[in-house]
Amino acid sequence: MNKSIKKIVIAGGGTAGWMSAALLTKVLKQRVDIELVESEEIGIIGVGEATIPPIQTFNSVLGVDEAEFLRETKATIKMAIRFDNWKQQGHSYYHTFGAPGATIGFSAFQHHWLRARQQGLNTTIWDYDLNYLCCEAGVFGKFDGKDPMYQMPYAYHFDSALYGRYLRKRSEQAGVVRTEGKIRAAHLNPDTGFVQSLLMEDGREIHGDLFVDCSGMRGLLIQGALHTGYEDWNHWLPCDRALAVPSERFEKTLPYTRSIAHKAGWQWRIPLTHRNGNGLVYSSQYVSDDEATNTLLDNLDSAALADPKPIKFRTGRTLQQWNKNVIAVGLSSGFLEPLESTSIHLIQSAVVRLLKNFPNSGISQAQVDEYNRESKLEYETVRDFIILHYHANERDDSDFWRNLRTMDIPDRLAHKLALFRETGTLFNDHGDIFLDSSWLQVMLGQGIMPRDYHPSADILDAAQLQSMLARIAAAKRQPLTQLPTHDAFLQHYTGVV
Ligand code: FAD
Repeated sequence: MNKSIKKIVIAGGGTAGWMSAALLTKVLKQRVDIELVESEEIGIIGVGEATIPPIQTFNSVLGVDEAEFLRETKATIKMAIRFDNWKQQGHSYYHTFGAPGATIGFSAFQHHWLRARQQGLNTTIWDYDLNYLCCEAGVFGKFDGKDPMYQMPYAYHFDSALYGRYLRKRSEQAGVVRTEGKIRAAHLNPDTGFVQSLLMEDGREIHGDLFVDCSGMRGLLIQGALHTGYEDWNHWLPCDRALAVPSERFEKTLPYTRSIAHKAGWQWRIPLTHRNGNGLVYSSQYVSDDEATNTLLDNLDSAALADPKPIKFRTGRTLQQWNKNVIAVGLSSGFLEPLESTSIHLIQSAVVRLLKNFPNSGISQAQVDEYNRESKLEYETVRDFIILHYHANERDDSDFWRNLRTMDIPDRLAHKLALFRETGTLFNDHGDIFLDSSWLQVMLGQGIMPRDYHPSADILDAAQLQSMLARIAAAKRQPLTQLPTHDAFLQHYTGVV
């Protein structure tokens, strides 16, 4: 326990392995040696193309030049996800990274908007959201200055294999040692149960003080060696399979992800500059693999470039993300379907958390407990946000949707829904990746309309309210005509035509 950490071994070189290597070496390279072990023969999962805005912080801490990154990873800009057929067939809404409206007095924007609706105003919350307006217009640009009215948070769609390669190059340049080969087993200290070394198939032994398990769904160390145990969330999130297939790029790339609900799951469409990423997430309890394949291939908007790749998964999380001297990062730590593009972010936040709790002079149980407490809360709040999309549906075309609508949901989510249904009130759990504006958009988008507005919105008289909302809507529209199309922005910014 009290042994100081001189060497970190990262088991696995997918997105999780190379993101961990890049950030750990950036911060700790004066103190520790880092070795990453991966097997080209086993390969990586090779999906995971959509992200959320904090990836910008990750890249900027690494000193990544944004234009170079966009070029190297064939990336596009992501301002939102458009959800089609989720509430009911034929209905669409956006979950944007923006915040609709502006705070007025002490009261959140939705209360004023709800009050104006009671007075007969016929707008949606998205009419006051710059990200939404840009998505619909297909434009994007960067604003200087800090006026919150014009903040337009964004993330990226990128080719995750290229991102891994890009981070590998930078990490190796920074001193990370990469070892090629297959790990056969882990050697445990008989007294402490800590991992002492990795035993390779060719007989080599790789020693370390701290092991980061980035071996993907296998969980080679966290489950295979330490038998940590796994909490299964299939009863809330019954999808357990995916099919992924690339297709030809569109002439015009959209600055948002599309998520299209089907009979027993949903399909993603992710625009990259060299191709589109597509896939279907579905539940094998409700639909056969053949039917799922047909659904995916029948709903591609451009020609497939390969056969669909099948992936099985088990939604849930490892019971402890940090066990003994092993920290599970990436798919070894758990799986939540990519509905809100959270997995790559969970990698980022796991490595940042490890740095915050870094056991410089030896592992203490207090550090381990705090790390595990925060990780559990983060996973559970993402889980609840994903359940919300499924549970609050009005579809009546399959048992899948009917059962999801009537199932029992986690208490925290039930409480959140009850508060919102009354007066549009939202609260933020510390540790929740998604802020109020995200919950607001998905709750409204899935058809949950509060019964009343919060009385704090009475601070304005009726005429003031109408004119304030009209001014915000006009101000949000104002930049639209000056912004380039998304493709023109990418070409100008990256120099790639
Ligand atoms: P992997 O990519 O599986 O890497 C595992 C590594 O371990 C590999 O290098 C492998 O060679 C190595 N390894 C394993 N066993 C051994 C061994 N015995 N010896 C040596 N090396 C070994 N995330 C998002 O954020 N956005 C998305 O849009 C998104 N979409 C997804 C869609 C699907 C269908 C799925 C399944 C996931 C998606 N994800 C998404 C999640 C994302 O793909 C992963 O979080 C991310 O790729 C990290 O994977 P990983 O590095 O943990 O695992």
